[in-house]
Amino acid sequence: MIGISVPIETAATPPGRLADRAKILLVDDTPGNLVSLEAALEGLGEDLVMAQSGMEALRYLLEDDFAAVLLDVKMPEMDGFQTAELIRARKRSRHVPILFLTGYKGDEQLFRGYDLGAVDFLFKPIVPEILRSKVKVFVELSRNTALLQRQAEVLGKAEQKFRSLLEAAPDAMAVVNGEGEIVLVNAQVEKVFGYRRQALLGKAIDILVPDRFQWGHQAGFLHKDQTSDKGVEICGVRKDGSEFPVEISLSPLDTQEGALVIATIRDVTERKKADQEIRDLNASLERRVSERTAELQESNQALRRSNDDLNQFAYAASHDLQEPLRMVALYSQLLQRRYGERLDTQADQYISYVMNGAHRMESLLQDLLAYSQVGSLGEGPVGPVDFSDALAKTLLNLKATIDENQAVVTWSELPTLHGHEIRIVQLLQNLVSNAIKYRGAERPKVHLDATFQDGEWLFSIRDNGIGIKPEYAEQIFGIFKRLHGKRYPGTGIGLAICERIVKSYGGRIWVESTPDMGSTFYFTLQNRLQG
Ligand code: ADP
Repeated sequence: MIGISVPIETAATPPGRLADRAKILLVDDTPGNLVSLEAALEGLGEDLVMAQSGMEALRYLLEDDFAAVLLDVKMPEMDGFQTAELIRARKRSRHVPILFLTGYKGDEQLFRGYDLGAVDFLFKPIVPEILRSKVKVFVELSRNTALLQRQAEVLGKAEQKFRSLLEAAPDAMAVVNGEGEIVLVNAQVEKVFGYRRQALLGKAIDILVPDRFQWGHQAGFLHKDQTSDKGVEICGVRKDGSEFPVEISLSPLDTQEGALVIATIRDVTERKKADQEIRDLNASLERRVSERTAELQESNQALRRSNDDLNQFAYAASHDLQEPLRMVALYSQLLQRRYGERLDTQADQYISYVMNGAHRMESLLQDLLAYSQVGSLGEGPVGPVDFSDALAKTLLNLKATIDENQAVVTWSELPTLHGHEIRIVQLLQNLVSNAIKYRGAERPKVHLDATFQDGEWLFSIRDNGIGIKPEYAEQIFGIFKRLHGKRYPGTGIGLAICERIVKSYGGRIWVESTPDMGSTFYFTLQNRLQG
């Protein structure tokens, strides 16, 4: 049994029922004797209960605990000895101290009395001082006995609590003494290690670990100073010899029998497995990420190559095609000027078609060239661009269009960001000119705005024009993608150029629009471009 150290009541501080008055049972068939006994004991301050017969005394003893019984030997019907016999026969009163009151001093009487468990004899006539001092001793004795009983009860309860806590613990727990011997184990130990509880008690704790660990008392592990809440990871060994990973933490336990140690043993097989799985998963994830990165790098390179090829092609085509195109335009102009009078009106019309086609092709080639040059190496490093200046230049370039359409262009405060001014002007010009070109019946109103949000600048160009159906909102940024055909002049490259410029600075561009109500083009530019 483990004696757990718990605070217990001591004689110096008698609380609760120990502080109560003790009960003393006085038994005598002569009322006069009872009165004199009462008178002699009154000064003690205890409770005196009086009975005039053995039967009455037994009744009281059934109901109450008494510190002492003063029992007259000579009584009719049931004498003191018979009464004492019955008192001893009952469990509740088996240990109550009995003081016989007798007038005889014969040995036979004394032997019988002691046989019946008498604690003492008092001979009549009773001397009050002697009676008092004897009774006092018994009262003291009974108080001490009650105190001890209470201490035992408290200890018993504490131990019970400790055992049930130990039993309820989710981990295997073993209590070990200073010699490294197992004093107590819970059901989890049986389950985890496969031993019956009884087979472990008194055995060295080393029985639960493989020899190479020897973490028991020999290794000094169970020394009080070395206990710790932090688990030590070692191996456990089951009864069948199989090993498994465990985490052991040791904590000291002060008991009446000395310092013990509670070893908490957790089976970490599942945790280890999970750790390993996570490590494997991480490794495979890392592998996949690096494979994917390599793939992406490859495809990026391929994309860059094909982009470069495309740019080169677009550049070469737009550049080289311009010369023959100019020839077509020039010679058709010459044809019209020199031979115009000799040809009929239909021929004139054909010639003008050729010339228009040549002009249109010229602007297409120019735009294509502009498109292919965005983001090319020839642009040089970025520098601070004041967007208000860039807008002023844009509006100057668009002056004729603005006047012609009586357009009103307004703007709020615009930031200075790093970029290439020529590109920013190109971007704003395409967007503002579209906002005017795709006007409705009303006078065109265009408004530019810029706000800083979520770490980037958000620009908007709002118009009150014809708008765009939502299903075309993405298409229009593609090369040669046009929605409004011949009614409005254009090559369908403007927005593709805008997207290329914005993307070259790491931004995004999109449109939100309601047909007949107007459109708002948005684009973002990174804050790091800010000057
Ligand atoms: P372009 O203007 O030369 O046709 P863009 O690439 O600039 O080429 O524009 C593509 C198409 O997007 C235009 O043909 C037009 O149909 C539509 N679009 C562009 N801007 C607007 C606008 N502000 N309002 C309505 N439609 C527009």
